[in-house]
Amino acid sequence: MTMKSYISFIIFMTLTSVSAQHIVPQSIEKEIKTALDYYPDLIDTQIEFRFKKEIKKSTMQARPRFGSFFKSRKNREYVVLISKTFKIEDKKFLTKNIPSDVLVGWIGHELGHIVDYQNRSKTDLIWFGFKYLFSDNHIVEAERAADTYAVAHGMEDYILKTKDFILNHSEIMPTYKLRIQKYYLSPDEIMVMVNDRDKAIEASSNFLN
Ligand SMILES: [Zn+2]
Repeated sequence: MTMKSYISFIIFMTLTSVSAQHIVPQSIEKEIKTALDYYPDLIDTQIEFRFKKEIKKSTMQARPRFGSFFKSRKNREYVVLISKTFKIEDKKFLTKNIPSDVLVGWIGHELGHIVDYQNRSKTDLIWFGFKYLFSDNHIVEAERAADTYAVAHGMEDYILKTKDFILNHSEIMPTYKLRIQKYYLSPDEIMVMVNDRDKAIEASSNFLN
C-alpha cells in the first residue's frame, strides 16, 4: 500500500468507525461498536450511551429521548443509560469491568429495544411506556422482544454469554436471577429461535435461487 492510499484508508476507517449519530463513553467504546455492527439498520439513528450513577432494578435502560418524542420516527433520538456499578451480593463492581463479550451482549439487548421502539408509532410508544409501568406481562413481552431482535440480528452468541454470566454466577443475588428468568428468553428458547431463523434464511435463499 502506498503512503497516500494508506493515509486515505486511515481517514476512511476513522470516519466509518466514529459515527456522528452515536455518542459513546470511551471506556466501553469497543463493546458498543461491536454491538452496533450487528445493527446496520440503526446506523442513522441518534443514540447516546451514557453512564448513570444508578438505575433502579436494572443495569442498562434504553429509552426515547423525551425532546425527540414528537419528531417523526426517522428523527427520533434514543438514550441508553448504563449503570456505573453492578451489584453482586453486597459487593459493587464497575460495569465497564464486566467481561467484554458479556457487555456486548448486554448492549445488544438494549439495541434490540431500540429497534422495537423504531417499529412503533408515537401513540403505540406512549402506550408501551405506560403498560411497562403497570403490567408485569407487558414487561415480559418487551424484554423478550428485545432479546428476539438481538437474535434476529445475529447476536445470539453474545446474548447467551450475558445470560450465562447472570444465571450461572454463584454470587449474583437470587432475586436478580429470578427476575432474569421471569422476564427474558431462556437459553433454550434462544437456541430454538436461532434454529428457526437459520431455517427461514435457508428457505428464502433456496427460494431466491
Ligand atoms: Zn431490556
